[in-house]
Amino acid sequence: MIFERKVSLSRFICALNSARKLTRIFKFGGASIKDAAGIRNVYQIIKNQGGENNLVLVVSALGKSTNALEKLLNLAYKKADFQADFQAFEQTHIDIAKDLFGEDETVQNALKRYFLRLYFQLVKCHTLQIDMAYDQVVSFGEYLSSFLVFQFLRKRDLAISYQNARFLIKTDLTWREGNVHLDETEKYIRKELEPILKTQLVLTQGFIGGTKNGYITTLGREGSDYTAAILGFCLEAESVTIWKDVPGVLNADPKWIQGAELISELSYQDSAELTYYGATVIHPKTIRPLAQKEIPLFVKSFIEPEKDGTRIGFDGKKWMKPAFIRKENQTLLSFTSKDYSFMEEKNITEVLHLVSKLNLKTHMLQVSATSISVVTELSDERLELLISHSRNHYLVLYNQDLTLVTIKNYDSYAIDFIVGNKPVILEQRSRHTSQFLIRNN
Ligand code: ASP
Ligand code: MG
Repeated sequence: MIFERKVSLSRFICALNSARKLTRIFKFGGASIKDAAGIRNVYQIIKNQGGENNLVLVVSALGKSTNALEKLLNLAYKKADFQADFQAFEQTHIDIAKDLFGEDETVQNALKRYFLRLYFQLVKCHTLQIDMAYDQVVSFGEYLSSFLVFQFLRKRDLAISYQNARFLIKTDLTWREGNVHLDETEKYIRKELEPILKTQLVLTQGFIGGTKNGYITTLGREGSDYTAAILGFCLEAESVTIWKDVPGVLNADPKWIQGAELISELSYQDSAELTYYGATVIHPKTIRPLAQKEIPLFVKSFIEPEKDGTRIGFDGKKWMKPAFIRKENQTLLSFTSKDYSFMEEKNITEVLHLVSKLNLKTHMLQVSATSISVVTELSDERLELLISHSRNHYLVLYNQDLTLVTIKNYDSYAIDFIVGNKPVILEQRSRHTSQFLIRNN
């Protein structure tokens, strides 16, 4: 009896939710809007996928703009000459604008103003702490792309509202990896966007957040997927779709393994695991907010938008075949106690604390009697810092330029296929997952 009542109550809540969950979120990454044809294609996709009703668009920077901005910042920060790179970067945007809008002066003047502001940010960037300067400079990529996409869609027949993500996504003051205050963001987004969505499509930037005091923060490289998920969460969206240059989530990077297979359905759990091990098709933080509200995530091809792609949800079928993930540029650090004492819980905590203090991510961990091995990705400067911080207690040895291969649902054939005779220097297997750290020469 009680059980029956529970079921009907949950059905009732479901029905209520389904009435509210009308909004769809579309995220377009850099590859999908790398040129004028890409931006035109965004318009086509919106038209063919049910139009602008209750739609939020999240855009990344055009093509590889974020890399270009990182380079500009590095040059400007050390007061090196950045003129040539700046001009090339500006020209790419001007060319795309000309292709889309012809000689439209309003667009050209607006672009000029963006570039003037970027130029000043670069000139004065060394007066700021580097990570803070990063967010102020690199966010221009998304501001420029969203401006161009907005202008293009507006001049077509779409009712569209431009929203600045800096005022929508509320973060703390952690530069380059702002932590999102979800409750505050939710309140704000619902208040601001729900009324607009009744009549207009909303367009905003991925990757960008803002602090209470109005500073721009960013959410970490490739963070636009996460922005889309946050918007989906806050608006209790019907679905979130990430438009990619691949047919969906594949069981390996097709640039690495020929004949990689499309996974048509995946559970939140499996996709979270794949991103954890380094599958780059979706940003690792994307899954959690969606799973919390049971919002399905679609990964689809912007080249063949009519195809189904991958659907990620609670009810997603279990993927039983092997999936392969590769992470390059890994470093193996081995901490050995200087007094030859055994490695105990206290040492493990100490070492991991050190690693986390330097903001490093542990991709594999192994403990033996006298040493702790940590696999991570780090720059030479951080490596020096880590060695100097641990000097008093530990001897640190390291190997660089390693590749970490993870096989989910492994079998001996899959291991043979990937690892073969390659030199494996560390290996770990659990029931469903095996990992191999491979030397590249
Ligand atoms: N443009 C940013 C990057 O390339 C964010 C994103 O694309 O998701 O990292
Ligand atoms: Mg990108």
